[in-house]
Amino acid sequence: MPMISKILIANRGEIALRVLRACKELGIASVAVHSTADADAMHVRLADESVCIGPPPSRESYLNIHQIVAACEITGADAVHPGYGFLSENAKFADILEAHGITFIGPTAEHIRIMGDKITAKTTAQQLGIPVVPGSDGEVKTETDALRTAKEIGYPVLIKATAGGGGRGMKVARTEADVLEAWSTARTEAAAAFGNESVYMEKYLGKPRHIEIQVFGDGEGNAVHLGERDCSLQRRHQKVWEEANSPALNVEQRMKIGQICADAMKKLKYRGAGTIEFLYENGEFYFIEMNTRLQVEHPVTEAITGIDLVHEQIRVASGGGLSVTQEDVHFHGHAIECRINAEDARTFVPSPGTITHFHAPGGLGVRIDSGAYQGYRIPPYYDSLIGKLIVHGRTRVECMMRLRRALDEFVVDGIKTTLPLFQDLVSNQDIANGDYDIHWLEEYLAKGSA
Ligand code: ADP
Repeated sequence: MPMISKILIANRGEIALRVLRACKELGIASVAVHSTADADAMHVRLADESVCIGPPPSRESYLNIHQIVAACEITGADAVHPGYGFLSENAKFADILEAHGITFIGPTAEHIRIMGDKITAKTTAQQLGIPVVPGSDGEVKTETDALRTAKEIGYPVLIKATAGGGGRGMKVARTEADVLEAWSTARTEAAAAFGNESVYMEKYLGKPRHIEIQVFGDGEGNAVHLGERDCSLQRRHQKVWEEANSPALNVEQRMKIGQICADAMKKLKYRGAGTIEFLYENGEFYFIEMNTRLQVEHPVTEAITGIDLVHEQIRVASGGGLSVTQEDVHFHGHAIECRINAEDARTFVPSPGTITHFHAPGGLGVRIDSGAYQGYRIPPYYDSLIGKLIVHGRTRVECMMRLRRALDEFVVDGIKTTLPLFQDLVSNQDIANGDYDIHWLEEYLAKGSA
């Protein structure tokens, strides 16, 4: 079993800190890497060692594979945890680490590749028994193809870029004329944005929820699911609020879709943490994609299962297998995560700057994952997530009560944050009822600013 003794964390911000905490608990030495803009960051201060890997732009630092491998060699790190974003789903990075005898804490490069291409991912999911959105059989190559497929699956349809990501490169078409127009503009835009003009077609779902299943495999054919997260509250396809369990599912539905996903991961011999994302409408699940890494919203799953997902990732990467079987996984209570961004709560315009006062809430069932502190200067170069507030209660009602109280205690001065948005949401009747879909938040925001 390849024991891991020193982990280099190829990330920044709250997730670098999150991984660092797991390393400390497991008695594993940690190496932080940072750009010149992050020299004062909390993950750098708390790590056992740190290496500056370049100037502020991510391309030259956090995405610079060459520098990160060099940092491993200088410090003698024998494993890399990529966090989320940056190089976490970069198959080439996983290959290069392996070639250097460094353990990548994640799945195989092959599995990253399969799930990174949307058409291959969808075909693979279907072969593994996962329900998918009705759609074209692979790429839609001609106008005739586009019209025929749209007729087969029924209007409205969605045209998506094969190489798309981050919610970009999608067009809805409601008529034949729309299809022709959307098909050709989607191809042109995809070629410009992703260097790949290939597009495919799916049935457009009107009012779905976003529900995702957390899975874990040991790479040897054993796998478990850790239930779902409901991430329907989104703005521009960015998740804002996540909860576990979903207010929309009952125990039977949870265990059924969970088991389908776990069985699929067994067949694939998947290794490490993964998330299978679905749209959910009228009681049916439709696969949209699989993320082959730890997710931002993983703490809600930790809260209700009591399982430390980063410990588990490290354990699996060391060859130690999963610490639990499906029978050992139990769900307790309800958890909600709010993403605190340095942005205006109405316009979502980023608000970098210095935090002049910072007070985080505490108490039973309250967790803060954040690298922010009083005096911290938020650099303008990276995403605007400055922390996550995760609240756990025995019931959803108790969780909401605790969330309202925790939000009242939270003080971040000197910059704008999304905290006021959550203060609104926690008092909203639809949210209290769990009655929302993926369009709810945008509609709510549009009403507010009208
Ligand atoms: P990306 O990789 O760009 O995030 P996804 O396939 O995960 O692309 O889709 C992003 C979002 O687009 C989904 O969360 C959902 O809001 C919307 N979406 C995707 N496919 C469909 C569909 N078939 N019908 C309706 N909405 C969809």
